[in-house]
Amino acid sequence: MKLGNIEFHIVSDGHVLLDGGAMFGVVPRPLWEKKMPPDSRNRVTLSMNCLVIRAGGKRILVETGAGGKMNRKWRDIYGLDGPFLLEGLRSLDLRPEDIDMVVNTHLHFDHCGGNTRLEGDQIVPTFPNARYFVQEGELDHAMRPNERDRASYFPENFAPIAAAGMLSVIEGDHALTSGVDLIRVPGHTAHMQCVKLTSEGKTAFFFADLVPTTTHLPLPWIMGYDLFPMTTLENKKRWIPEAMREGWIALFAHDARVPAAYLRDRDGNWEAEPIAVG
Ligand SMILES: [Zn+2]
Repeated sequence: MKLGNIEFHIVSDGHVLLDGGAMFGVVPRPLWEKKMPPDSRNRVTLSMNCLVIRAGGKRILVETGAGGKMNRKWRDIYGLDGPFLLEGLRSLDLRPEDIDMVVNTHLHFDHCGGNTRLEGDQIVPTFPNARYFVQEGELDHAMRPNERDRASYFPENFAPIAAAGMLSVIEGDHALTSGVDLIRVPGHTAHMQCVKLTSEGKTAFFFADLVPTTTHLPLPWIMGYDLFPMTTLENKKRWIPEAMREGWIALFAHDARVPAAYLRDRDGNWEAEPIAVG
Protein backbone atom coordinates (compact mmCIF):
# COMPACT_ATOMS: atom_id res chain seq x y z
CA MET A 1 0.00 0.00 0.00
CA LYS A 2 1.13 3.54 -0.72
CA LEU A 3 0.68 6.49 1.59
CA GLY A 4 2.25 9.48 -0.12
CA ASN A 5 5.92 8.52 -0.31
CA ILE A 6 5.64 5.84 2.38
CA GLU A 7 5.06 2.22 1.38
CA PHE A 8 3.64 -0.28 3.83
CA HIS A 9 2.42 -3.86 3.92
CA ILE A 10 0.64 -6.01 6.46
CA VAL A 11 2.25 -9.38 7.04
CA SER A 12 0.71 -11.89 9.43
CA ASP A 13 2.88 -14.12 11.61
CA GLY A 14 -0.07 -16.53 11.76
CA HIS A 15 -2.99 -17.13 14.07
CA VAL A 16 -3.21 -17.00 17.84
CA LEU A 17 -6.29 -18.31 19.64
CA LEU A 18 -7.21 -16.50 22.85
CA ASP A 19 -10.01 -16.97 25.36
CA GLY A 20 -13.09 -15.18 24.08
CA GLY A 21 -14.10 -13.93 27.51
CA ALA A 22 -10.66 -12.43 28.13
CA MET A 23 -10.72 -10.85 24.67
CA PHE A 24 -13.99 -9.01 25.30
CA GLY A 25 -13.85 -8.09 28.99
CA VAL A 26 -17.27 -7.13 30.38
CA VAL A 27 -19.12 -7.80 27.11
CA PRO A 28 -21.39 -10.85 27.59
CA ARG A 29 -20.69 -13.91 25.47
CA PRO A 30 -24.08 -13.85 23.65
CA LEU A 31 -22.96 -10.53 22.14
CA TRP A 32 -19.37 -11.32 21.19
CA GLU A 33 -19.92 -14.89 20.00
CA LYS A 34 -22.11 -13.58 17.18
CA LYS A 35 -19.22 -11.48 15.92
CA MET A 36 -16.40 -13.88 16.66
CA PRO A 37 -17.55 -17.49 17.16
CA PRO A 38 -15.33 -19.37 19.66
CA ASP A 39 -13.99 -22.90 19.19
CA SER A 40 -14.73 -25.83 21.53
CA ARG A 41 -12.11 -24.48 23.97
CA ASN A 42 -13.80 -21.04 24.06
CA ARG A 43 -11.00 -19.49 21.98
CA VAL A 44 -11.49 -16.88 19.28
CA THR A 45 -9.29 -16.70 16.20
CA LEU A 46 -6.95 -13.73 15.96
CA SER A 47 -4.15 -12.86 13.61
CA MET A 48 -0.76 -11.47 14.61
CA ASN A 49 -0.51 -8.68 12.08
CA CYS A 50 2.88 -7.07 11.60
CA LEU A 51 3.56 -3.95 9.60
CA VAL A 52 6.40 -3.59 7.11
CA ILE A 53 7.21 0.02 6.26
CA ARG A 54 9.56 1.63 3.77
CA ALA A 55 10.02 5.26 4.74
CA GLY A 56 12.87 7.77 4.76
CA GLY A 57 15.20 5.17 3.22
CA LYS A 58 14.59 2.81 6.17
CA ARG A 59 12.99 -0.60 6.28
CA ILE A 60 10.93 -0.81 9.42
CA LEU A 61 9.09 -3.72 10.98
CA VAL A 62 6.35 -3.09 13.54
CA GLU A 63 5.67 -6.19 15.72
CA THR A 64 7.23 -9.59 15.19
CA GLY A 65 4.36 -11.96 16.12
CA ALA A 66 4.87 -14.95 18.40
CA GLY A 67 7.85 -16.28 16.46
CA GLY A 68 8.94 -19.91 16.51
CA LYS A 69 10.50 -20.53 19.93
CA MET A 70 7.49 -21.80 21.87
CA ASN A 71 7.30 -25.49 22.67
CA ARG A 72 4.54 -27.82 21.54
CA LYS A 73 2.46 -27.42 24.71
CA TRP A 74 2.29 -23.63 24.41
CA ARG A 75 1.77 -23.75 20.66
CA ASP A 76 -1.26 -25.92 21.34
CA ILE A 77 -2.62 -23.70 24.14
CA TYR A 78 -2.46 -20.64 21.88
CA GLY A 79 -3.28 -22.46 18.63
CA LEU A 80 -0.19 -21.06 16.93
CA ASP A 81 0.09 -22.09 13.27
CA GLY A 82 3.07 -19.88 12.35
CA PRO A 83 5.66 -18.51 12.33
CA PHE A 84 5.04 -16.93 8.93
CA LEU A 85 6.67 -13.53 9.34
CA LEU A 86 9.97 -14.32 7.61
CA GLU A 87 8.12 -15.96 4.72
CA GLY A 88 6.00 -12.83 4.42
CA LEU A 89 9.11 -10.65 4.37
CA ARG A 90 10.64 -12.87 1.70
CA SER A 91 7.57 -12.37 -0.49
CA LEU A 92 8.33 -8.62 -0.23
CA ASP A 93 11.92 -9.33 -1.24
CA LEU A 94 13.24 -8.64 2.26
CA ARG A 95 15.72 -10.77 4.19
CA PRO A 96 16.01 -10.49 8.01
CA GLU A 97 19.31 -8.60 7.59
CA ASP A 98 17.56 -5.96 5.47
CA ILE A 99 15.45 -4.69 8.39
CA ASP A 100 16.84 -1.44 9.88
CA MET A 101 14.38 -0.91 12.71
CA VAL A 102 12.01 -3.12 14.70
CA VAL A 103 9.25 -1.59 16.79
CA ASN A 104 7.47 -3.52 19.54
CA THR A 105 4.27 -1.76 20.60
CA HIS A 106 4.65 -3.65 23.86
CA LEU A 107 6.39 -6.82 25.00
CA HIS A 108 3.57 -9.37 25.26
CA PHE A 109 4.75 -12.55 23.53
CA ASP A 110 2.34 -12.26 20.60
CA HIS A 111 3.92 -8.91 19.65
CA CYS A 112 7.64 -9.59 20.14
CA GLY A 113 8.18 -13.38 20.04
CA GLY A 114 9.78 -13.10 16.61
CA ASN A 115 12.38 -10.59 17.88
CA THR A 116 14.64 -13.55 18.54
CA ARG A 117 15.08 -17.05 17.18
CA LEU A 118 16.74 -20.30 18.11
CA GLU A 119 20.11 -21.06 16.55
CA GLY A 120 21.12 -24.45 17.91
CA ASP A 121 20.51 -23.98 21.63
CA GLN A 122 21.32 -20.25 21.49
CA ILE A 123 18.70 -17.51 21.29
CA VAL A 124 19.84 -14.81 18.87
CA PRO A 125 18.32 -11.64 17.40
CA THR A 126 16.26 -12.48 14.29
CA PHE A 127 17.11 -9.16 12.63
CA PRO A 128 20.90 -8.82 13.02
CA ASN A 129 21.22 -5.29 11.60
CA ALA A 130 18.21 -3.73 13.26
CA ARG A 131 17.76 -1.45 16.21
CA TYR A 132 14.77 -2.51 18.28
CA PHE A 133 12.55 0.23 19.77
CA VAL A 134 10.47 -0.17 22.91
CA GLN A 135 9.16 2.16 25.60
CA GLU A 136 11.38 2.28 28.67
CA GLY A 137 8.46 1.78 31.07
CA GLU A 138 7.27 -1.25 29.11
CA LEU A 139 10.72 -2.82 29.27
CA ASP A 140 10.95 -2.13 33.02
CA HIS A 141 7.59 -3.79 33.55
CA ALA A 142 8.45 -6.73 31.29
CA MET A 143 11.55 -7.41 33.41
CA ARG A 144 9.41 -7.48 36.56
CA PRO A 145 5.89 -8.49 35.54
CA ASN A 146 3.21 -8.88 38.19
CA GLU A 147 1.20 -11.97 39.12
CA ARG A 148 -1.60 -11.00 36.73
CA ASP A 149 0.41 -10.56 33.52
CA ARG A 150 3.46 -12.73 34.13
CA ALA A 151 2.18 -15.32 31.62
CA SER A 152 2.47 -12.81 28.75
CA TYR A 153 6.12 -11.83 29.22
CA PHE A 154 8.99 -14.11 28.19
CA PRO A 155 12.48 -12.64 28.72
CA GLU A 156 13.91 -14.66 25.81
CA ASN A 157 11.96 -12.35 23.49
CA PHE A 158 13.72 -9.16 24.62
CA ALA A 159 16.62 -9.86 27.04
CA PRO A 160 18.96 -11.17 24.27
CA ILE A 161 18.27 -7.99 22.27
CA ALA A 162 19.22 -5.83 25.25
CA ALA A 163 22.29 -7.99 25.93
CA ALA A 164 23.41 -7.52 22.31
CA GLY A 165 23.15 -3.73 22.71
CA MET A 166 20.51 -3.57 19.98
CA LEU A 167 17.69 -2.16 22.08
CA SER A 168 16.74 1.53 22.00
CA VAL A 169 14.54 2.43 24.94
CA ILE A 170 12.45 5.52 24.39
CA GLU A 171 10.36 7.58 26.73
CA GLY A 172 7.07 8.90 25.42
CA ASP A 173 6.39 9.99 21.83
CA HIS A 174 9.25 9.54 19.41
CA ALA A 175 9.84 10.43 15.76
CA LEU A 176 11.36 7.23 14.36
CA THR A 177 12.07 8.59 10.90
CA SER A 178 10.42 11.08 8.60
CA GLY A 179 6.68 10.31 8.58
CA VAL A 180 6.85 7.52 11.16
CA ASP A 181 5.95 8.43 14.74
CA LEU A 182 5.69 6.28 17.83
CA ILE A 183 3.00 7.49 20.19
CA ARG A 184 2.64 6.30 23.74
CA VAL A 185 -0.97 5.17 24.27
CA PRO A 186 -1.42 3.58 27.69
CA GLY A 187 -4.32 1.36 28.72
CA HIS A 188 -3.58 -2.18 27.56
CA THR A 189 -0.29 -1.77 29.41
CA ALA A 190 1.04 1.36 31.12
CA HIS A 191 3.44 2.14 28.28
CA MET A 192 2.06 0.65 25.07
CA GLN A 193 2.83 2.61 21.91
CA CYS A 194 0.93 3.01 18.64
CA VAL A 195 2.48 3.89 15.27
CA LYS A 196 1.38 6.78 13.10
CA LEU A 197 2.39 7.09 9.46
CA THR A 198 2.00 10.46 7.77
CA SER A 199 2.86 11.46 4.23
CA GLU A 200 1.54 14.04 1.79
CA GLY A 201 -1.51 14.77 3.90
CA LYS A 202 -2.45 11.12 4.37
CA THR A 203 -2.29 9.21 7.64
CA ALA A 204 -2.37 5.56 8.71
CA PHE A 205 -2.58 4.57 12.37
CA PHE A 206 -1.59 1.20 13.81
CA PHE A 207 -3.86 0.77 16.83
CA ALA A 208 -1.82 -2.05 18.43
CA ASP A 209 -3.90 -3.40 21.34
CA LEU A 210 -5.89 -0.19 21.90
CA VAL A 211 -8.38 -1.52 19.32
CA PRO A 212 -7.05 -5.01 18.50
CA THR A 213 -9.80 -5.90 15.99
CA THR A 214 -12.64 -4.10 14.21
CA THR A 215 -14.98 -5.90 16.61
CA HIS A 216 -13.43 -3.83 19.42
CA LEU A 217 -14.50 -0.49 17.93
CA PRO A 218 -17.52 0.12 20.23
CA LEU A 219 -16.33 1.91 23.37
CA PRO A 220 -17.23 -0.74 26.00
CA TRP A 221 -15.63 -3.56 23.98
CA ILE A 222 -12.34 -3.52 25.89
CA MET A 223 -10.15 -6.54 26.53
CA GLY A 224 -10.14 -8.19 29.96
CA TYR A 225 -6.37 -8.37 29.57
CA ASP A 226 -6.05 -4.57 29.78
CA LEU A 227 -4.30 -3.40 32.94
CA PHE A 228 -5.94 0.04 32.81
CA PRO A 229 -9.33 -0.35 31.10
CA MET A 230 -10.49 3.17 31.98
CA THR A 231 -7.38 4.56 30.30
CA THR A 232 -8.12 2.40 27.27
CA LEU A 233 -11.61 3.91 27.24
CA GLU A 234 -10.22 7.45 27.34
CA ASN A 235 -7.76 6.70 24.56
CA LYS A 236 -10.44 5.06 22.39
CA LYS A 237 -12.51 8.24 22.82
CA ARG A 238 -9.55 10.27 21.68
CA TRP A 239 -8.09 8.28 18.78
CA ILE A 240 -11.10 6.62 17.08
CA PRO A 241 -13.05 9.87 16.47
CA GLU A 242 -9.86 11.55 15.24
CA ALA A 243 -9.21 8.69 12.81
CA MET A 244 -12.82 8.94 11.56
CA ARG A 245 -12.78 12.71 11.23
CA GLU A 246 -9.45 12.84 9.43
CA GLY A 247 -10.07 9.85 7.16
CA TRP A 248 -7.10 7.87 8.45
CA ILE A 249 -6.38 4.30 7.42
CA ALA A 250 -6.83 2.25 10.60
CA LEU A 251 -4.57 -0.79 11.00
CA PHE A 252 -5.50 -3.59 13.40
CA ALA A 253 -2.93 -5.81 15.12
CA HIS A 254 -5.19 -8.82 15.69
CA ASP A 255 -8.03 -8.76 13.15
CA ALA A 256 -7.85 -11.94 11.06
CA ARG A 257 -10.29 -10.65 8.43
CA VAL A 258 -9.96 -6.87 8.33
CA PRO A 259 -6.39 -5.73 8.99
CA ALA A 260 -7.00 -2.31 7.41
CA ALA A 261 -10.11 -0.15 7.25
CA TYR A 262 -11.55 3.32 7.16
CA LEU A 263 -13.65 4.07 10.22
CA ARG A 264 -17.17 5.38 9.81
CA ASP A 265 -19.76 6.76 12.21
CA ARG A 266 -23.16 5.47 11.11
CA ASP A 267 -25.83 6.97 13.36
CA GLY A 268 -23.59 6.69 16.39
CA ASN A 269 -22.35 3.18 15.54
CA TRP A 270 -18.65 3.04 14.83
CA GLU A 271 -17.98 0.73 11.93
CA ALA A 272 -15.08 -0.39 9.79
CA GLU A 273 -15.09 -0.13 6.03
CA PRO A 274 -12.48 -2.70 4.96
CA ILE A 275 -9.63 -1.71 2.67
CA ALA A 276 -8.14 -4.33 0.37
CA VAL A 277 -4.50 -4.85 1.31
CA GLY A 278 -1.78 -6.37 -0.79
ZN1 LIG B 1 -0.89 -7.31 24.42
